Amino acid sequence: MSKMKMPTNLPDPIINENAKIVLARRYQKKDTEGTVYETAKELFWRVASSIAAEEAKYDRSTVKPAALARDFYDLMTSYSFLPNSPTLMNAGTGLGQLAACFVLPVGDSIEDIFDAVKHAAMIHKSGGGTGFSFSRLRAKDSVVGSTGGVASGPLSFLRIFNCATEQIKQGGTRRGANMGILRVDHPDILEFIKAKERDGELNNFNLSIGLTEAFMRAVEKNEDYDLVAPNSATVIGSLNAREVFNILVQKAWESGDPGIVFLDRINRDNPTPTQGDIESTNPCGEQPLLPYEACNLGSINLGNCYARGHNGKDSEIDWDELRRIVHLSVRFLDNVIDASVYPLPQITEMVGKNRKIGLGVMGWADLLYQLRVPYNSQTAVDLAERVMKFVRDEARSASKQLAAERGPFPAYAESVFGEANLGPYRNATTTTIAPTGTLSIIGGCSSGVEPLFALSFVRNVMDNDKLVESNPFFEAALKEADAHSPKLMEEIAKVGTIRKMDHLPEELRRVFVTAMDIEPIWHLKMQASFQKYTDNAVSKTVNLPNSATKEEIWDIYWKAYEYGCKGVTVYRDGSKTSQVLCTGDGD
Ligand code: UDP
Repeated sequence: MSKMKMPTNLPDPIINENAKIVLARRYQKKDTEGTVYETAKELFWRVASSIAAEEAKYDRSTVKPAALARDFYDLMTSYSFLPNSPTLMNAGTGLGQLAACFVLPVGDSIEDIFDAVKHAAMIHKSGGGTGFSFSRLRAKDSVVGSTGGVASGPLSFLRIFNCATEQIKQGGTRRGANMGILRVDHPDILEFIKAKERDGELNNFNLSIGLTEAFMRAVEKNEDYDLVAPNSATVIGSLNAREVFNILVQKAWESGDPGIVFLDRINRDNPTPTQGDIESTNPCGEQPLLPYEACNLGSINLGNCYARGHNGKDSEIDWDELRRIVHLSVRFLDNVIDASVYPLPQITEMVGKNRKIGLGVMGWADLLYQLRVPYNSQTAVDLAERVMKFVRDEARSASKQLAAERGPFPAYAESVFGEANLGPYRNATTTTIAPTGTLSIIGGCSSGVEPLFALSFVRNVMDNDKLVESNPFFEAALKEADAHSPKLMEEIAKVGTIRKMDHLPEELRRVFVTAMDIEPIWHLKMQASFQKYTDNAVSKTVNLPNSATKEEIWDIYWKAYEYGCKGVTVYRDGSKTSQVLCTGDGD
């Protein structure tokens, strides 16, 4: 496709100081000496124009590529929407791998295992993250038919994946991220649960235990459950479910790992069950995928959808603006699929069939600050549901409109939508809530649906760069209350929170809460509210104070199940010296 010329009247983007560093380090194009030769404006035009150019393929398209390119440019440079990092890095560069999320199968043979290692390396190189289920691998010490020897088990192979990852930087910018999942009924489950007990062990992996409904029922009734050999499908032992759950909780209390995912629940929402079971998610857990599937994500900045009431009060969400952004973003993400070149033919085939996209939100805490609604309140939890229902309904309606122009996703007829005569849709899934680790830095907004970590803090970004950051809505509110001073900001940067600052107005202390001020249950309620209207899953960490007990973690894991979450991750303050990826820090 020929390159679209940059319009002469294209406005320069306004880039915040943090974004300047991140964009130059990771996103703007560099020559062989490492010198940046692409401006931020050129970057956003490269992405906007190359994604809009895909439009020309569709005869019945209702929009012109040149006009669309301008709309996409404005959408991104107003930071109302940003596509996932690989799209920003690679679109229009000839590299063309634009998706963040992949899941690869790991079969029970040396060939299959090393194919997966190789395929993961190729994906990491292109900027994507990979998830794997190790559940198909035969248990440690079981017999190997061809040699008469004994198998070394999922964990020993997982270490090989971890080592391989260590050596490959994603497009020279960041190291690959992985998710490793083992079903709770795998015979090696106890070893897997304890796999990250030493700090630094398997540090390129997030680990999650795949919990089944049968297992959760056994925990509830304090019963034993069966361990099944994956290679023979025979029961080879049993464990007490509560004891296993207890060890799981103990390890999560110690280090945050492993997390849990509810496999049966994920598969209940599998839109294309005829293509097989979903065994794993992507690295940060928000995107369950079939083996060899990939998904590109994008996030809407809800902080931009605030509407101040005409009287200066009665502020609301700007629903019309949100609708406009959702529709344009869905078109963008669907075009990304066409613009993407995947590293393996199997992936091209799977993505081509289901055309999953993952539109999500970021800047949620910023929106709540503007609305003066505390994150830890029923009002916020109810609003989350309303917002996400709106986003999903509009995303589906946009996907329907695309199906009318371009045809439904090829597997539509055999999908649950086809079966129920819903749709047709262009995409098997439309919504996912990503962590937005780097996107939120570029957009200058709060990340995903997380509360702010601190109202003001010093951020260490990559090597020696230090970035000082204060939340702009908090600063504005302080000014409005005549309480802003450089000395106060310094004080706040030391502790992050104003919870104990009695001299500040009560209203400010109620609204401007941070992750650590919030009772864990609110984290979970918020996750569940967003999950209710998200096709895929929600990236969320339940932050706990260092003093949190094992009983509290048990309770959170259990409630995550009761509330209908697809999984959960906890992090107890100070329980790990180095944190796993997705925080926006470099290697
Ligand atoms: N991801 C990755 N490496 C990283 C961070 C993220 O491969 O260092 C992938 C991973 O699949 C993750 C997804 O990108 O789940 C989305 O993460 P995030 O939203 O933080 O990425 P961003 O687009 O903000 O860079």
